[in-house]
Amino acid sequence: MRGTELEQLQRRIRACRKCVRAGYLPAARPVVAGKATDRVMIVGQAPGAVEFEAGTPFAGRSGVVLREWLARAGIDEAHLPYRSAITKCFPGKNPRGEGDRRPSPAEIALCAPWLEQELDLVRPRVLLLLGRLAIDRFWGSAPLREAVGRMRRQNGCVLIPMPHPSGASRWLNDATNRVLLERALRIVRREALM
Ligand code: SF4
Repeated sequence: MRGTELEQLQRRIRACRKCVRAGYLPAARPVVAGKATDRVMIVGQAPGAVEFEAGTPFAGRSGVVLREWLARAGIDEAHLPYRSAITKCFPGKNPRGEGDRRPSPAEIALCAPWLEQELDLVRPRVLLLLGRLAIDRFWGSAPLREAVGRMRRQNGCVLIPMPHPSGASRWLNDATNRVLLERALRIVRREALM
C-alpha cells in the first residue's frame, strides 16, 4: 500500500514544473529514487547537470564519492538508500563561480511539500543530511564542524549530518574535517546496519 502511494507520489514529483511556472527555472526535470521499504534516506541539496541528463539522483561525480562513502559505512550498491533532496531539479550553474547555483529560499519553499510527503510515506529510520541546506532544514543552523561527526534522535529518526560529496566543496581539504567525516561514517555504519 505504502509502496503504491510512494510510486504515485514519485510520478507527481517527476511531473512537477512549479519552478518553471514561477520563473525560477528555464526547465525542470525532478529526480528522486528509492522504495517505501528503504530505512535510510539521503537528503541532498539539489541534483546537478549530470543528474538532469540522466534523470536519476547522484548519477555524476558526487554520486561516485557518495557511493565510496557509503561503502566505507558498509552500504553497498545493492542497498543504496532512498535518494531525495531539498530541491529536486538542477538549479543551473552558479553565475558567480564554480559549482551549481544554490536554490533560493523561494524554490526551497516550493519544493518542500514533496520532501514532507516522501518522509511521511517512507518513514526512514536514519536520515543522512548531505550538506548545508539539508543540515539547516533538519538539524538547525550550525557550522559543519559542529554538526558532522554527531548524531541526534528526533521523532523516531536518527539524523546524521555529513558534508556534501560534491567536488565544489573544499571542506574536506582540511585533515581535521576528514576525521569528522570518518566519525560520521562510523555512526552511519552503526545506525544504518542495526
Ligand atoms: S525544484 Fe521541486 S518544486 Fe521546483 S519544479 Fe523541481 S520538483 Fe517542482
